[in-house]
Amino acid sequence: MTLISLICAEILNVLLFPPELLRTTMTGTLVIVVVVTMPICLFVGSKMYENAKLGAQLQQLLNRDRLTDVATRDYFFSRMEAEPNAYGVSLMVDIDWFKAVNDRYGHLAGDAVIQAVAAALRKHTRAQDIVCRFGGEEFVVFLFDHTIRDGYDVAERLRLAIEEALISAEGHDISVTVSIGGSLKERVAAISTAIKEADEALYRAKSLGRNRTVFAGIASDRQTLAS
Ligand code: GH3
Ligand code: MG
Ligand code: MG
Repeated sequence: MTLISLICAEILNVLLFPPELLRTTMTGTLVIVVVVTMPICLFVGSKMYENAKLGAQLQQLLNRDRLTDVATRDYFFSRMEAEPNAYGVSLMVDIDWFKAVNDRYGHLAGDAVIQAVAAALRKHTRAQDIVCRFGGEEFVVFLFDHTIRDGYDVAERLRLAIEEALISAEGHDISVTVSIGGSLKERVAAISTAIKEADEALYRAKSLGRNRTVFAGIASDRQTLAS
């Protein structure tokens, strides 16, 4: 911007002033342009940089859950809506008896447990899969391009990893289990339907005694056939 202003001003000088005055007017113009436009450019540039940074931070707040740093529910739905042809398995993962963890060890320890479960879900899935915190102590994992059989294996791997982990928080070693409901999302099928089915399967997993994986569309007594 400074350079363009300078060039325009100097062209005007050449057109308006006689040659003997040019040296003086051009030098004056140079000083004025630099003194006036440079600070304006610097100010505008710094504001634009701040705005871009704030925009990125805002996006981060909308996309990443603050406690766990996994995706937010909003990000999950916007991503799935942008990819209606996505095929794969949805897992609804819920920590068992979590209220008792808060009651026994305190809310901060409860937070640490939620963080540890989120980290385990992230660790045992691929970078392209989505792990999102769906609500309090509930997560949704979407495994792209997985069949029910593959999805079941991943769900069991996640469940066992969480069951075996000892979570150190607030001076306690805490272990928790999760129940998992799974469903298959066909191409073009609505993600809301897949989530509803996974939620119903999770409810079955809870009523069957917790710490287990149940898939929609498979009778509870035949779940192990998938492994
Ligand atoms: P279930 O096995 O049936 O899932 O039992 P539950 O105790 O896990 O489920 P319930 O819905 O009764 O309790 C969930 C608890 O999770 C209640 C709520 O206070 C707690 N919670 C939700 N969000 C957070 C959070 O961000 N941090 C902590 N520490 N607790 C949370
Ligand atoms: Mg729970
Ligand atoms: Mg819950």
